[in-house]
Amino acid sequence: MNIIQNTLEFSDQFLWELVLWCCGRDNLDLDTRTITTIKFRNGHTRAYRGACWTTKNGGRFYIELGDSSRFPHTCTLHGVTTTTEDRIEGLVLVTAHELTHVKQHKMWWHARDTTPSGRNPRGLSQILEREGELRGGLVLELFKRNREALLTEWRRYGSNDPDWNIVQKKILTAAKDM
Ligand SMILES: [Zn+2]
Repeated sequence: MNIIQNTLEFSDQFLWELVLWCCGRDNLDLDTRTITTIKFRNGHTRAYRGACWTTKNGGRFYIELGDSSRFPHTCTLHGVTTTTEDRIEGLVLVTAHELTHVKQHKMWWHARDTTPSGRNPRGLSQILEREGELRGGLVLELFKRNREALLTEWRRYGSNDPDWNIVQKKILTAAKDM
């Protein structure tokens, strides 16, 4: 897992912690080794958006986060309605949604391989999107319950911390054991 672009005000370290926390929730339970690269950008068209590309071994994704004037934001997608009060809630929701798509990679490629036309299996996208919103909402609820403690935890290391490389190695090692 590698953050290859980050234009947000949150440090790479903070985003790492956020992603690792999301992956470790029972509602997601995602092996971080299946994530190849992640991009985080400021967006200018909506509260948040994301996209994920999968391979047979995992996936990569990007996320765009709008400015604070776009929140609170209520999203109704594939029959799931979720309200995010501010940017950090939007970030948690959309990250958990895209991580769900990485988790779905095996199902997606199996469906493609077994669909004779080689086209997207009919109706599968809606099911995968709905699952993304449902899991994203569950992870968001867990975040809301423990928000201040989690933010403190994720901010442990300053963005210019010289020990960051050591910390990053420790996180990578821990992630491998998850
Ligand atoms: Zn999606």
